[in-house]
Amino acid sequence: MSSSHTIPKNYDFREVEDRWQRTWRDEDNYFDPSSPKPQFVIDTPPPYPTGNFHIGNALNWCYIDFIARYKRMCGYNVMFPQGWDCHGLPTEVKVEEIHGITKNDVSRDEFRRMCRELTLENIGKMRATLRRCGFSTDWSHEYITMLPEYYRKTQLSFLRMLKAGYIYQSEHPVNFCTRCETAIAFAEVSYEPRETKLNFFDFDGLEIATTRPELLAACVAVAVHPEDERYRHLAGKHLKVPLFGHDVPVLQDGAVDPSFGSGAVMICTFGDKQDVHWWKEYDLPLRKAIDRKGMMTTLCGRYQGMNAKECREAILADMEKAGILKRQETIEQRVGTCWRCKTPIEILSERQWFIKVKSDEILEATRRISWYPEHMRTRLENWAEQMEWDWCISRQRIFATPIPVWSCAKCGEIVTPDEADLPIDPTLERPKRPCAKCGSEEFVGEHDVLDTWMDSSISVLNITGWDGSGTPPIFPAQIRPQGHDIIRTWAFYTILRSVALTGQKPWDSILVNGMVLGEDGFKMSKSRNNIIAPETVLVEYGADAFRQWGAMGSATGQDIMFNWNDVVAASRFQTKMWNIVRFVLTQIEREPVEDGPVTALLDRWLLAKLAKTVAEVTNALETYQFDQGLRAIRDFTKNILADDYIELVKGRLYSDDAERASACRALTTTLDALCRLLAPYVPHFAEECWAQFRDGSVLVQSWPAFAYEDEEAERLGDHVVSLTAELRRYKHDLGLALNAPFGNLTIYTPEPVDDVGDAARALNAGIAWRTGEPRLEKVPAGVEFNLAVIGPALRKQAKGFMQAVEALPADRLQNPPATVSVDGVEIAVPENAFTPKFAYAVEGEAVDVLTIGEVTVTLRRA
Ligand SMILES: [Zn+2]
Ligand SMILES: [Zn+2]
Repeated sequence: MSSSHTIPKNYDFREVEDRWQRTWRDEDNYFDPSSPKPQFVIDTPPPYPTGNFHIGNALNWCYIDFIARYKRMCGYNVMFPQGWDCHGLPTEVKVEEIHGITKNDVSRDEFRRMCRELTLENIGKMRATLRRCGFSTDWSHEYITMLPEYYRKTQLSFLRMLKAGYIYQSEHPVNFCTRCETAIAFAEVSYEPRETKLNFFDFDGLEIATTRPELLAACVAVAVHPEDERYRHLAGKHLKVPLFGHDVPVLQDGAVDPSFGSGAVMICTFGDKQDVHWWKEYDLPLRKAIDRKGMMTTLCGRYQGMNAKECREAILADMEKAGILKRQETIEQRVGTCWRCKTPIEILSERQWFIKVKSDEILEATRRISWYPEHMRTRLENWAEQMEWDWCISRQRIFATPIPVWSCAKCGEIVTPDEADLPIDPTLERPKRPCAKCGSEEFVGEHDVLDTWMDSSISVLNITGWDGSGTPPIFPAQIRPQGHDIIRTWAFYTILRSVALTGQKPWDSILVNGMVLGEDGFKMSKSRNNIIAPETVLVEYGADAFRQWGAMGSATGQDIMFNWNDVVAASRFQTKMWNIVRFVLTQIEREPVEDGPVTALLDRWLLAKLAKTVAEVTNALETYQFDQGLRAIRDFTKNILADDYIELVKGRLYSDDAERASACRALTTTLDALCRLLAPYVPHFAEECWAQFRDGSVLVQSWPAFAYEDEEAERLGDHVVSLTAELRRYKHDLGLALNAPFGNLTIYTPEPVDDVGDAARALNAGIAWRTGEPRLEKVPAGVEFNLAVIGPALRKQAKGFMQAVEALPADRLQNPPATVSVDGVEIAVPENAFTPKFAYAVEGEAVDVLTIGEVTVTLRRA
């Protein structure tokens, strides 16, 4: 126990946080596979190593750290891993920028090396931010998806799913970003509003409206509604496509909206999802008008080599020239774009690899997972239910996990490597054996690579130690924390992959956090200039204030607006609490207090309130309501401990009263519990407070299981607290200073109270607690005139009237006569002209009488 005079006056978060971060050891946060404790494995999100750990990540990590620290204190063997989801386009683009090259200027291998180098550098920067936030990461479970030991597992999972019939290769329309030159999954298409022109033109005598005239070359049919009278005569006929001249059939289909445009539509391969649907349903031919780079193909004749926009303008100009463009309307449209680069996507038919989406399996597993908050479950269910296309997992990029297959150059047979040889790059290595089907030794290595979600959707399998030899003993994980923006991707794919590879749900529960919005309420973005970097907050207010902001922002799952005021309030709470700790420790350490019972009423009251707070915080953390937990701690500290309790018992603490020891014991218990309750939220601050009066680290203490029931103390204590506050107000209203002598109070309560003199010391009064009613003597004390009545009624006689009333004997005042005599004239007493006043006395001494609820208080003023 340190002596009180060594406690610094001010809490310097910079010095304290830095010191503890240097003192704490990583090993204390390691998951111990041989531990007999129950496990608590957290499937943390692996962020993309951009080099900046943004505030949205930081919020999510605050939540994770609260859980990890709380569960450790509750006796769990916790795994809080840190992964890095490395592959993907943004890094490729950055590398091209940094080195001033395009990916085709160097070998694939060299390009990957450059990407890896940049990624490692970025990971280094982000690790530093994680440490600065005070997160209790298990660094022995760090994983980096681009390293061979990880992507070996990605490849293994691919081969297993291929063998199990989940994965197939097919030519099928896919969403394609022509800027990124890669297929993307449906979940990666975002929809944006856009203004465009609806062009009405003559299509071989029929008016058709289209927003995409550049797809005219890809037109394979025209469709009308079967009940549309205007077009009934066209059923079964063929039309000639303007400018291109090929014949297309006219189809009748109930999905056509007769009220849109002219009511007749072109079917092109492919303008949208509906085109794909019709193309399949009517077995229409495939006409590819746009290639993977977004250029018009040879099919487009003189428009070949133009991009879609150039082609559109050229075709419209030619329509105009031919006199077939009738009119144009401006319309609002939602257009699908690439979620990474915002380029409008094209639907291209390509040979790609797919994973079968078995919605029933996924929904079944989803039902067996607890969702926090519960309504987020619906988002995943809706997505799984409306899934029409399988998951396209092949990408035409470089910095990604290679698809580990070859195809036989002679017969086309797919050849896979031995699992023991993984990881492999089929573009650099060759199969060990000739083709099993035709014996050929010529192979073509697969150039396509895997979608990065293929890496990250096995995060939980990776951390639990999956190696393909069965389900790991520590699988499933206990919780998956993640943002709601990646429910359709990361959560969905993880469930899909876990079910496919283990037949089980990946986690017991999933905790979904909201997004962080800028101070202006909008999504943080460079263009709005409303981005707040966690480092900015850390430098100005420290990690613990930042963590409190994360906890208090809003209910779990809701978006949270960044607000400097909340950070400032968090920092002030620490200052306030530090002052409380200093005061308490100064008192506790004044003289040694032996162990013993807590006896005084208010001390028992404090412990009863503390026990309720502990239960409230525990319940909040069990259900991941971090804001409720921290609010309960703050309210208890500020209101109950500081404003009520300490203000009331200060006098006893300063005294040599026999009951002083009871207060010291109650305060020690309270401080001990508060440090533990605060440890998950503000580890540096809790550790620093703890170190002032306890040995060891608060972080390895057990969670307070503090039960203290004392219904009587709670009821009577509440009574004393509210009475004291009322009396203090009364004293103030009398114009007395708070510490001025107040006089003698007798407090009559329905049941006996013994507050060991705390209220008396707090009010600087003599206090006697009594039950029953006071024996009050009522003494007349003049009258109060109602001038609003007297003035108009008596006018000039008013003054004389009042003198006459004042001269009446006391007993007449209570029972006023009908008339009084003024200057020898009897004047009628107007109704409500005056009210008699009384004073009270006890045993002949004048007292003030206050009624506060069921309590009567008499005060003989000083
Ligand atoms: Zn793109
Ligand atoms: Zn072959």
